[in-house]
Order: sequence, then C-alpha cells, then structure tokens
Amino acid sequence: MGRLCIIARSVSPPSPHPSPMSAGLNLAQLQAVHYTEGPCLVLAGAGSGKTRVITHKIAHMIERGLEPRRIAAITFTNKAAAEMRERAKGLIGRAAKDVLVCTFHALGVRMVREDGKVLGLKPQFSILDQDDVTSILKDAAGGTTDAATARQWQWTISLWKNMGLNAAQALAQAKDDHERSIALIMQRYEERLAAYQSVDFDDLISLPLKLLRDHPEVRAKWQAALGHVLVDEYQDTNATQYDLLKLLVGERGRFTAVGDDDQSIYGWRGATLDNLKKLPIDFPQLKVIKLEQNYRSTSAILRAANNVIGPNPKLFPKTLFSELGEGEPVRVVDADSEEHEAERAVARIQGLRAAANPPPDWKGFAILYRANHQAKPFEKALRKAGIPYKVSGGTSFFDRAEIRDLCAWFRLWINSDDDPAFLRAITSPKRGIGHTTLGALGQFATQHKQSLFAALFSPMLPAALPRRALDGLHEFGRYVNDLEYRARQTLGAENARAFLADWLKEIDYEKHLYDGEDSEKVAAARWSNVLEFCDWMAQRAGGQIDDTAGATTQMEIKSLLEVAQTIALLSTLSDREKDQDVVTLSTLHASKGLEWPHVILAGVTEGMLPFKLDDDGGRQQKVSDETLSRLQEERRLMYVGITRAQRSLAVSWTKKRKKGREMVAAQPSRFIAEMALDKTTAREDPREKLKALRAEFALKAQNAAKVA
Ligand code: ATP
Ligand code: MG
Repeated sequence: MGRLCIIARSVSPPSPHPSPMSAGLNLAQLQAVHYTEGPCLVLAGAGSGKTRVITHKIAHMIERGLEPRRIAAITFTNKAAAEMRERAKGLIGRAAKDVLVCTFHALGVRMVREDGKVLGLKPQFSILDQDDVTSILKDAAGGTTDAATARQWQWTISLWKNMGLNAAQALAQAKDDHERSIALIMQRYEERLAAYQSVDFDDLISLPLKLLRDHPEVRAKWQAALGHVLVDEYQDTNATQYDLLKLLVGERGRFTAVGDDDQSIYGWRGATLDNLKKLPIDFPQLKVIKLEQNYRSTSAILRAANNVIGPNPKLFPKTLFSELGEGEPVRVVDADSEEHEAERAVARIQGLRAAANPPPDWKGFAILYRANHQAKPFEKALRKAGIPYKVSGGTSFFDRAEIRDLCAWFRLWINSDDDPAFLRAITSPKRGIGHTTLGALGQFATQHKQSLFAALFSPMLPAALPRRALDGLHEFGRYVNDLEYRARQTLGAENARAFLADWLKEIDYEKHLYDGEDSEKVAAARWSNVLEFCDWMAQRAGGQIDDTAGATTQMEIKSLLEVAQTIALLSTLSDREKDQDVVTLSTLHASKGLEWPHVILAGVTEGMLPFKLDDDGGRQQKVSDETLSRLQEERRLMYVGITRAQRSLAVSWTKKRKKGREMVAAQPSRFIAEMALDKTTAREDPREKLKALRAEFALKAQNAAKVA
C-alpha cells in the first residue's frame, strides 16, 4: 500500500485576520478550502471538520466567482444533502440553492434523464424499488422462487453491478454453478429492465458511468459543466462511484474528497478502501491534507475512540486531539435483558436532564444500536416514560403499502412501459379487471414484445380478449393518459393539491383502504398517511421545500410530473423530521456524519457488536482473513458510534442475548475492554434511576418555588 504524503497539518489558532468565510476554520482546513486548482484529499479522523471544509469550500468558490450551478457536492444520504444545503445557505445565502448538492444516485438520475437517450432510455424512465426488483427477479426465474432467495440474488447482482460487471461479465467470472445460475437470472433481469424502461438503484451509478465512458460528447459536456466536484464520506464510495467521479472530473481533476479510512462501514455493500489508496496513484498531483483537531467530543470520549480503533491497520497514522476538556467519564452500563437495558437508557436520559438547569433538549440525545430490530424495547420504554422520539434509518414512509400504491400510479404517468407499476396501479383500487384478463394481457404483451400498457391499445388485442374485459382495460388506459396529461400541466402547490384530491376521489382510494382493513383505526392511519403524502408532494411542486434528492433545480415551481419522478429516490419525508425536539433512535450505519451532545451506544454485547464472529470472543489466536476483515469493519462501526458523542457517552450491554429463539448468556463486547476506560469511574451506578427521580423532584420543587 502506498503511503500517502501529508503536506499540511492542522495548526491552531486559525489565521490572524479571518474573513467571515474563513472564521471558524483552522489553518489546515483553510488550506483545503483555498486549494481549488486540482485534486485535493482531506483525510482525517471523526469530528475534525471534514464536512465543514466542504460547505466552506462551496462558499469560498462561489465568492471567488465560480457559478453555483457548476459546483456539485456529493453526500452519502439525502438527509446529509439537505443539511449541507442548509449550512451553505447560512454562509452565502440564496446563491447556495443552485449548487447541486445530492447523492451519487440523485446525480445519476439527472445525468440519465438528460443524456440517457444515447443508451436507448427515454427521459421518463422509472426507478424501481427493492420490492419491484425482487418480484421481477422471481418472475425472471420462472415464478416459483421464495422471497428470501430472490433477495439473496438481488444482493449478489447488486454487488456485481457495484463492481462494474454486467450479466455477461458476471457469468464469465462466476465461481460455481450457483453463481452461474444467478448470472443467468441477471441476464433475464437486465432484459426485463430494458423492456420496462426501468432502472434499479445500482443502474443510477452504472448507467451514468457507461454514458461518460462510451460517449465522448456526453463526457465533454459534463466535464465542462462541472467546475468542481466535492465528495463527503469518500471512504464509503464503491468502485463504480469512483470510476464515475474520475470521468466527471477528467484529467484536470478539480475535486475535493474528504473521508476517514477508520469510518469505512459499508464494505458489506461494496464500498472499498481501494478508492482511497488509488487516489494518489491515479492523480499524482493530489494534495493530501490531514486534520488533527477534533471539535466535537471531549477528551474522555475521544480517548475511548482512539483506543478502540488502535488495533486496526492504518492507511496513514493519525492522532486526534480535543481542546474541549476531559469531560465526563465514559460510562459502561450492564443490564439483565434488552428490556432492562432500555429502562436504564431512559433513566439515564431522565437523569441527565434532571441534573442540568435548564435541562438539555430531547433532541440532544441519541440511542444508537447495530440493527433495526433493536429499536423496539427502546421505543416501548420511551413511550412508557412519555419521552418523544423518532426512529431514523428504519422502515421508510415510502415502503408503506398505501404510499407505494400511489407511487405506482405516478410511475405509470412517467413511464407507461413500467409493467410492475402497471400491475399495481390497475389493481389499487381493484376496478373489476380480474387476474384472467391481466394474465391474457400479459401473454399477448409477451408474444408481441410490448409493454402491458402498449399492448392494451394494440389493434390486435380485441381478437384475444372478450369485449367486457377489453372495455375495462381501455378505460383504465385512457384514464392514465388523461392523468398524465393533466399532471404535466399542473404547476405549483395549490394546483397540485387540488389535482391530487380530485384524483383520490375519482379512484375512490379512501373507500379502498377502509374496505381492505378490518380495523378502522388502521385504515384511518393509512388514509392519514396518504393525505400527508399528497400534501408533501404539493409542497414540493410549489418549490417550497429545498431538501429534494437534488436531481431537479431547487426552489423552482415544478410540475406534478416532475415531482413524481424523483420520489423513488427519497427514503424519508425529511422535512417532517426537521428540528423536532425528540430523542433519536438510530442504527449506527445511519448515524454516520451526525453528532449529539449525549449518546447511548446500546447492545455493545459480544455477538451483537462485533456481530457473530467465529473466533470465540477473540480468544482464538488464528482466524481466517475474512473473520479478521469483518472484525475490523465492526471495530470501525464501534468507532463511528463513539465519535458521534459530544459531551457524554454511555455504552451498554446485556447479560443475556437472543440466539435464534433462545436466550443465551452473553458477555460484554471486546470493544468495551479495548476502550480502556478507567474502571473506577466507568461503571454507572445502577441506582441512577432513583437519583434521577430525586433530582427531577428537586428541580420541580425549585421551579414551583420560583413561580410562587
Ligand atoms: P465525521 O467524521 O463524523 O463526518 P467531520 O470530520 O465531518 O466528522 P464536522 O461534522 O465537519 O466533522 O465537524 C464536527 C463538529 O466540529 C461540527 O459541530 C463542526 O461545526 C465543528 N467544527 C469543525 N471545524 C471547526 C473549527 N475550525 N472551529 C470550530 N468548530 C469546528
Ligand atoms: Mg462529516
């Protein structure tokens, strides 16, 4: 591995005459911000201000005359994009709205929409979600497959795609019969996607890559359009994303990548640290900048983080220091069960609130864990205590059946060749068109190599179907066309709102929900989701929301059709989450890049974190390379978790954990020992709940006295 040469180090205090833009940046950060002529890599530990460098650099370049629309800043999630846009706006005002701040996938949508015709895609292609993909895969395999197997294939195919392989290449490199059979299914899957004019999430990277690689005119256009590309969380890019970046910036290499090799936690999804290693080789003129001051956490927290990550191999040596003082000791909390662990977390939150006057906001607390299912006991305990919370990184609003029903209609307006959307829309609500009719239509469409929608208007179809069935199909087809025409003309929030309300009435969707649910309460909740969703669509059509995936220009009035196309990319109604004063429950993966004053890391139990390693809790001397590399990724995950905390950190583990259906005795994670905490201060007093209640009572009494 080539050592990276470090040419700048952070030195405090910052420059003697800071301009408003450079205020709050140290020397090394300023160097990274000011270096705009060529490739730049900021490689630094957690909380050292990497993301801050990106926002300030955007502002700096605009101040120096680069047009905002020639800057692209790529973030890891839509939420991070929204936050970055917000921060850039704080620095430079409205000019920030024209900067393209988005994920690689959203950038991909824009590129494929603008230039996909050279690949045979029309601008209005559909973006398939996970469920569509699994059902297409099942269908491609002959229809007898169970969902779990289909998801397994999807996983493998996705990894191949992220490695830049198409079906033919995957077949050529397949190791055994099993892989060969998946490659063959992938081939059929690719054919179906092409026929449906649809793309999956991985295509949103691989198609733009193909565009730039195989079409010099498109490449020249994008290279000229983008003056500078900035990439946050660079350590978690995958091979195709790196290739895309290289082609976007061309030989001049005007880009800024910021990242931390110790926070690479998406290896399981194809992200590769090779991208960091390759940069200085592919761009010999690369300027590498190292930041060493952590501005987020107290020394106690940072020391625990440094100790944990210590045993991992280093891409480059780094030490982080903090000037925020020693702070509270990191606490270890043991619990008898998951329920007990949740109770203790709630008690800790209450205790910390009661101990400070004024008490910290709820939004200052986060409970982080490895896997989604761990949220449940915490949700219950928080509810019981009447503490407001949100679960982020969990099941998305857009995965709800009612929202997916509506999205199927939108997809059909956008791309009438989208067969999966056709089948969902025509049956949601049911409109008297039965499976026999749909089966016959499907057969006809396959025979004539057409999409279902195109087949429906074929002059030859009447010969294949009875009159009544045909009338129903035609009516549906005409209605979709009419909606599409109207959605295209529907501009702005008010018009969109009226349009959506009329449409829901026309298809009688509310009745459909109530008919399909035994419980009125459930139906009412689903209907309220629908209304909320429509309202959210309308707001976006009005351009009031500036947290879209970034694929369309921000703050402009949009047609409903334009709004509809980017929906598949969004995983949350992020504006709903904005600034709510609630405790955050999140997976460690979804917590990347974020920070909270008080963090509780839960489930730090051997077998959960690190997750099931076959090395006997670290006692085995010799382990396979695979086990070792998994352990290293788990350690990075722990490091990410620890470094989210600003002022206080508690790490909790349970003496029992689930193993299959049984409960088995469990040990604290080896990472707790690796944190090398001071034993006399680390153990949290199990009577803290009592203390918390006393303190809360005292505070209330104090306030009551004040009022009196
Ligand atoms: P991560 O690795 O977790 O993504 P990061 O390196 O991107 O972290 P930031 O999120 O940019 O770090 O910064 C961490 C915190 O430190 C933020 O609250 C940020 O505002 C603050 N910060 C960064 N640089 C400075 C600085 N020079 N002066 C004061 N505060 C700073
Ligand atoms: Mg960051």
